[in-house]
Amino acid sequence: MTKRIAFIGLGNMGGYMAANLAAAGYQVSGYDLATEAAEKARRNGINTTTTAEEAASHANIVFTMLPSGQHLLEAYETLLRAAPANTLFVDCSTVDVTQARQARDLALNAGHRAMDAPVSGGTVGAEAATLTFMAGGEPEDFTHIRPLLETMGRTIIHCGDPGAGQAAKICNNLILGITMIAVSEAFVLGEKLGLDHQALYDVASQSSGACWALTNNCPVPGPVPTSPANRNYQPGFMTSLMSKDLSLALNAINDTGVAAEIGPLAAKIYRQLSHGPRAHDDFSTVINTIRDQTNTAHTADKATL
Ligand code: NAD
Repeated sequence: MTKRIAFIGLGNMGGYMAANLAAAGYQVSGYDLATEAAEKARRNGINTTTTAEEAASHANIVFTMLPSGQHLLEAYETLLRAAPANTLFVDCSTVDVTQARQARDLALNAGHRAMDAPVSGGTVGAEAATLTFMAGGEPEDFTHIRPLLETMGRTIIHCGDPGAGQAAKICNNLILGITMIAVSEAFVLGEKLGLDHQALYDVASQSSGACWALTNNCPVPGPVPTSPANRNYQPGFMTSLMSKDLSLALNAINDTGVAAEIGPLAAKIYRQLSHGPRAHDDFSTVINTIRDQTNTAHTADKATL
């Protein structure tokens, strides 16, 4: 069957993803509430429409790439009515697992099919078509959609039933958020103990402390020349997005009753960071907060002596 694609949400991620589909020869109708995003997409070969209905009405596959679960549920009110029966809805946004399942139920009740397929890899991965897709949905829908995901990404994993993609995404980012704080605390402790950054890196990266936060996204400049710390913490993966993902993880922790202690603390740390001037920096900037707080505490201790 010819794949007729609608792409809803042509922002920082969706704009590149839709453009990669169009560049591969697929017919893509696109819609975004923001005129600027729509105009950029039009220049990249997307047939942009003035309403969401118009984009969905001729589609048999509808991708969404929206800021949140609330945006998704609101957009579905229109899209599910407009699309021809049995359209496959694929949501690539990062949303709450509960909202992902709600969206899937709405789609099924409206006579459609639905999957979640959130991504990691950031805007660089979206532009270069090297994203990782974590998909949740029926195996036959996954098989049908796989060539499109391969057009936009490099690693495509079917994680299970609907919602499993979102579950995998927040569990992965829970690990990432926590390990970045652990690595940052270790570097600040090393500084206080007179340990050279490179020496700590050489030991930990070859030892049991090795992890992606250290070996790819090292929070101090030097040991990993491509890490955001070498460009004054320009992202990378913005602190505000890490905070969003950990708040979704926190919702899931509360919903399931998991006895997690470090996750909620990590969520709190990134939430505080995302309300300050470092919100748009890479999340590895958490090391600067730890250093600032260490120095403030040290000064306060001296003052009370
Ligand atoms: P963005 O804000 O740049 O883009 C979202 C777009 O959706 C905006 O252009 C907005 O105008 C549009 N929009 C909102 N409601 C709409 C509606 N009802 N109909 C049509 N358009 C609508 O956000 P982004 O950075 O592209 O992120 C999109 C999603 O991808 C988010 O859920 C985010 O968490 C996730 N994500 C982002 C990154 C990243 O590095 N930016 C990485 C992984 C996942």
